Amino acid sequence: MAELNRPERRQCVECGREDSWDDSTHNWRIAGEEGRPFCIHEWDINGSHNPIRN
Ligand SMILES: [Zn+2]
Repeated sequence: MAELNRPERRQCVECGREDSWDDSTHNWRIAGEEGRPFCIHEWDINGSHNPIRN
């Protein structure tokens, strides 16, 4: 049975920056002060994330 798997949080695997999903703006919002400004954020939901979870 497939269910919609919508992430509400993502974290950069490089610098630890965390974002949280803002439902009202349908966009990511920075959730923490951590993180490097010049990091090309490699979010932990990249690649492995599948919108439909089997
Ligand atoms: Zn980062």
